[in-house]
Amino acid sequence: MITNLRLLCLHLTGKDYGCPYWMVYLSQIEALKKTVILENPKFCLKDGTKLCLPDFPKQEFQTLQEVFEEASQRFQEEELDPPVSQSKEHLCGNCLAIVANQTSHCEACGATFWTPFEIGIRSLILPAWGSFSIRPFSFALVEQVSYVVFGLGILLLEGKDNLVIAAVMFVLLNAMAAVGYYKLTAKGLYLKEVPAERQAVNDQFDGSLNPDAPTRFS
Ligand SMILES: [Zn+2]
Repeated sequence: MITNLRLLCLHLTGKDYGCPYWMVYLSQIEALKKTVILENPKFCLKDGTKLCLPDFPKQEFQTLQEVFEEASQRFQEEELDPPVSQSKEHLCGNCLAIVANQTSHCEACGATFWTPFEIGIRSLILPAWGSFSIRPFSFALVEQVSYVVFGLGILLLEGKDNLVIAAVMFVLLNAMAAVGYYKLTAKGLYLKEVPAERQAVNDQFDGSLNPDAPTRFS
């Protein structure tokens, strides 16, 4: 979503509830490009980081570019440059307030977020454990089934001759999952727990919790 002030990355369908939300002021975007191989939209940001949109429909890139350029031009004419803590500000998935970097809870609504370490450890013990914590259930289930099938393959092919090699392969498999999920969780805020009395905030949000937080309709 692009407003006259910022780019908002939100999941509005409900099925991805809990996934990271971001907000970028237009003044923090230097360019809109495409990724080399998959040609997904990629925003190059002022602080050197990038924001890629892997699920964006390819046929709508042209429209995105036009809307972005128009919004950027209007923004530049206003000569606005709002202060930020980083180009890509993390938003709370429950109330949309800006959450400070390296923070695992939202001061506005009390929601908590998974830390990379928590998810990394879970994935190291059992890859699907980390996945079930932050991914949609169906996605995690497919991953769990794949892990079981792959694990059985290792046991059948390697385990009968050399249990040590099979064990090493299992450790490597889990370590790869742990590193992958650690990096994924470090990229954004995945909701862990929301206080019961604040769980409806996201559905009824009107901007009153935090005057600096963007509403969905601004
Ligand atoms: Zn919050």
